[in-house]
Amino acid sequence: MTGSRLPDIYDFHCHSTASDGVLSPSELVRAAAEAGVQQLAITDHDTLAGLPEAARAAAEHGLELVSGIELSVVWSKREIHMVGLGMDTTAPGLQALVAAQQHARVNRAELIGKRLDKAAGLANSYGLAAELAGTDAPGRPWFARMLVAAGKVRDEQHAFNRYLKAGQSAYVSTPWATLSDAVAAVREAGGIPVVAHPVRYGMTRRKLRQLLADFCEDGGLALEVAMPRLNEAQKALLDECLRDFPLHASGGSDFHTPAQKWLTLGRLPPLPDGARAVSELFGPHAAVAA
Ligand code: MN
Ligand code: MN
Ligand code: MN
Repeated sequence: MTGSRLPDIYDFHCHSTASDGVLSPSELVRAAAEAGVQQLAITDHDTLAGLPEAARAAAEHGLELVSGIELSVVWSKREIHMVGLGMDTTAPGLQALVAAQQHARVNRAELIGKRLDKAAGLANSYGLAAELAGTDAPGRPWFARMLVAAGKVRDEQHAFNRYLKAGQSAYVSTPWATLSDAVAAVREAGGIPVVAHPVRYGMTRRKLRQLLADFCEDGGLALEVAMPRLNEAQKALLDECLRDFPLHASGGSDFHTPAQKWLTLGRLPPLPDGARAVSELFGPHAAVAA
């Protein structure tokens, strides 16, 4: 798929049970195929573990699987999400970065568990969330689902508001990789660094432009601009960013669960006029072989 044109229906941002999604990698691929998706990147948080299973399912369903990941990184004391697309997943630098991020995630999960035991009056929060997630590094959405299942809060949003979000009792800050290091690791692996969901950080226009300037200087290559439920002001801001920075355009639903009925895999607004699609940058290692 080297330098491929963007197909009519694609999705370069979604999650499986390898991180905080609720569909297994093969169920996710099947759901994407049923939604008509032709090119798919599964971008689990700080892990590539779902890709082998997804690749086998993709071969079965006749869709192209592009390697993907969503890395939590630090830029200017903030947490930013950077998607990597089309990497050679065997690259040692990338694997080392992913291993360090996983280590940070396990430590964070254990700490969140201890704090929740106290704050919510539970006995084994970490164990319960890990079991629900099926991994030893359950992310915050799994703790939220565990709290709902334990009857401590009425829904996941309340779990975040009451316990899990920054400033609350079970929030744990995590020593993520820096944006520069993440960009370097993805580039070394032949992949494309993408700033994920730029409108979700609550940044001013000025701050976002600073982020993109630094990202470009570090070797960043693309910006996620096609996503569901953007308002006109957000669209205008993203158009402006694509015009002013040498970035290709990516898009993805950030699908986590079929329970969010308004969000469908591959249902994205068109790229802005004149945008260059990120798929033009896909190299020889972009596809994950079954
Ligand atoms: Mn997530
Ligand atoms: Mn994200
Ligand atoms: Mn995501």
